[in-house]
Amino acid sequence: MRGVQLGLKDQVLNSRSLWMCLSCSTCSLRCPNDIDVAAVMETLRHMARKEGRVTVPKVEKFWFSFLDTVRRFGRTYEIGTMALYMLRSMRVFTDVDLAPAALAKQKLGFKPHVTPNGGAEAVGRILKRYEERAKREGVRP
Ligand code: SF4
Repeated sequence: MRGVQLGLKDQVLNSRSLWMCLSCSTCSLRCPNDIDVAAVMETLRHMARKEGRVTVPKVEKFWFSFLDTVRRFGRTYEIGTMALYMLRSMRVFTDVDLAPAALAKQKLGFKPHVTPNGGAEAVGRILKRYEERAKREGVRP
C-alpha cells in the first residue's frame, strides 16, 4: 500500500505478493485506515496482467484452469481444475499427497456438479462475452 502511495509502479506491479493474495479480505476488514486492501490488490493484479507482468505464472495457470471448469459446468470442479493445472504447469505431482485425505472427507467429487436449468450454458455465455470484449479492447482476458 505504501508503494502505491509513493507511486512506485514498477515495484508494485512486479511484486510477487500480488499473486500470493487469496482475496480473503482479512486485511480489508482489519485495516485501521479503512483501506479496502483486497480490492486494491485485485486492481493491481488486473493492471499487472494488462501489462504482461505476471510474476508468478503458476497462479495465472491455476486461474485459467479454474475458469475452464466454471465455463464448462457453471461452477468449479475441483478435480478437473487440478488436472488442468497439472497439465498447464507440468507439475504433475503437485499436492497429490493431499488427495487421499480430501477424498476421505468428501471434499473432492469425482463427478462435476453441473449447474441445472441452463445455468452452466449461461455462465459459459457470460465468460465468452467477457473474453470477446477483452479481445476487442486489446486486453488479456
Ligand atoms: S486479501 Fe488481504 S489478508 Fe487476504 S491474502 Fe490478500 S492481502 Fe492477505
